[in-house]
Amino acid sequence: MKKTYAIIGLGRFGGALLQTLIANGQDVLGIDINEENVNDYRDIATQVIIADAQEEDVLRKLDIASFDHVIIAIGHNMQASILATINAKDLGAKHVIAKAENRTHLRVLTKIGADTVVQPEREMGERIARKLLAPNMLNFIELSDDYSMAEVQIVNPTFTGRTISDLNIRKRFGLNVIAVRHEGEIVVAPEGKYRVQPNDIVSVVGPKDMVDDFDQLTN
Ligand code: ATP
Ligand code: ATP
Ligand code: CA
Repeated sequence: MKKTYAIIGLGRFGGALLQTLIANGQDVLGIDINEENVNDYRDIATQVIIADAQEEDVLRKLDIASFDHVIIAIGHNMQASILATINAKDLGAKHVIAKAENRTHLRVLTKIGADTVVQPEREMGERIARKLLAPNMLNFIELSDDYSMAEVQIVNPTFTGRTISDLNIRKRFGLNVIAVRHEGEIVVAPEGKYRVQPNDIVSVVGPKDMVDDFDQLTN
C-alpha cells in the first residue's frame, strides 16, 4: 500500500531510509539543510527540498500534518532534531519517528512527543550480537518483553526427516510454527504432517527463551 513519508535529514540513516522506501514504491519527500546531501536524492525521491527544519514555517508550508509518517533523521545537531520534532508534533504530524544520538537525546525526544524513538547504533549492536550468539536465527522480531518470532534454519539431523507432529514443537517448546521455507518455496501454516527437511527455514512464534532453546537445539 502506498503511503506518504517526509524524511528530515538525508545523512546515511535518512538516505538509506529514503532509498528503501522509494524502491518499494512509496511517496517520499526528503528535506535537508545541506544542498549537497539533497542533490544525492534529487533524482530518486518523489520530491526534495533544501530547508532548515528547525523553522516552524518550513514545516507548516510543507503541510507536515498531511504525511502518514514523518522521520526526524538528524543526529549531531540535537537542537535541530528537538525543534523539528516539537514543530512536527505541534503542527499535527500523525506519526513521528525520531532518531536519537544517545540516551539523553532519547529521553528528550520521548518527552516532547515523538511517537517512536530509535537509536540505530545501539539497536544494530544488539542485533549483531544476537546474530553472533544464535547463528541459526536468520530473522528475529521482538513482539514484547516475553514473546518473539524468529526464522530458524534446521540443521541438526535429529530434527530432520520428521513431521512437525512427531517433533512435538508445540508441547516441547510452547512454540507455534507459522511457516516453513523449503528450497525457496514457502509453506504457510504447515500441517502437523509436514516433514521437516535439512536446511528448511522454520518460522516460529512463542516465548523468547523457548525460541532461543529451539534455535540452539536445531543447530
Ligand atoms: P547519519 O548517521 O544518518 O549519517 P548523523 O547522525 O551523523 O547522520 P547529522 O550529520 O547531524 O547526523 O545529520 C544528518 C543530516 O541531517 C545531514 O545531512 C544534515 O545536513 C541534516 N540536517 C542537520 N540539521 C538540519 C536541519 N536543521 N534541517 C534539515 N536538515 C538538517
Ligand atoms: P557510535 O556510533 O558507536 O557511538 P561512532 O561511530 O561515533 O560510534 P567513534 O566515536 O569514532 O565512532 O568511536 C567509537 C569508539 O571507538 C569510542 O569509544 C572511541 O573511544 C573508540 N576509538 C576511537 N578510535 C580508537 C582507536 N584508535 N583505538 C581504540 N579505540 C578507539
Ligand atoms: Ca551518526
